[in-house]
Amino acid sequence: MKIVFIGTGACTPEIGQEVASFVINGNILVDTGWCNVLKMREYGLDPMDIRYLILTHLHQDHYLGLPQLLFYLWAHRVSRKSVSPLVIIGPSQHLNEIVAASKAFLQIKRFSEIVLETDVVPLVPGKTYKGADFVLETIAAKHFSGGGGMEEALSCKITYPSTAQSMVFSGDTSFHPPLAELARKTPMLIHDACHSAPAEAARIAQMADAERLYLIHCQEKAVMMDDVRRIFPRAFMARDGLTVEL
Ligand SMILES: [Zn+2]
Ligand SMILES: [Zn+2]
Repeated sequence: MKIVFIGTGACTPEIGQEVASFVINGNILVDTGWCNVLKMREYGLDPMDIRYLILTHLHQDHYLGLPQLLFYLWAHRVSRKSVSPLVIIGPSQHLNEIVAASKAFLQIKRFSEIVLETDVVPLVPGKTYKGADFVLETIAAKHFSGGGGMEEALSCKITYPSTAQSMVFSGDTSFHPPLAELARKTPMLIHDACHSAPAEAARIAQMADAERLYLIHCQEKAVMMDDVRRIFPRAFMARDGLTVEL
């Protein structure tokens, strides 16, 4: 299993740090960041290989790159190895709306030659999705939205039954103990360090008895890793371009 962090930052990109987004095994993109196509190419990944997009939730910093990805897949369609449409998985409440808005933004009515094939899979937290070679389990993250209400947001576990390999990512979440259950003994937990304090992410990794913790969705200089490692020694700050093989 191979994870490439194409972005690790918070809500808006910085020079040298794209917004949090990563690629699993070359064909699953988790959240879009702002500039996913450019960043995938920069780190040696081919955006045309992306078959699945998992949107952990539908805050802007997690889907802003969707029109860009769809347009790239169309523009380079002759080189696409897979003939199946892009599968877009995300929280049920607004997923269809965001995909439709992305297509409208690309003016598909005015440019009828632009055909953007997608297979949209709205998931209520708690539901499972079976991909061609993986299983995606989800629980509700604890994520407050702009208006003070709760955002429908997913924390996810991906398992490849053929190799029994798996990993877990939190999406945006405040400290949320049920995540430790989902991440029980996981080889890799990728945890938000913006809505959770880094020490709280370490606490979840400790409760889960995870093998490794990677922090994302934060500015590196804002995190005191020594404090984090006092709670959970096998904690790392993810950096843009970092590749982790499990
Ligand atoms: Zn969010
Ligand atoms: Zn976010």
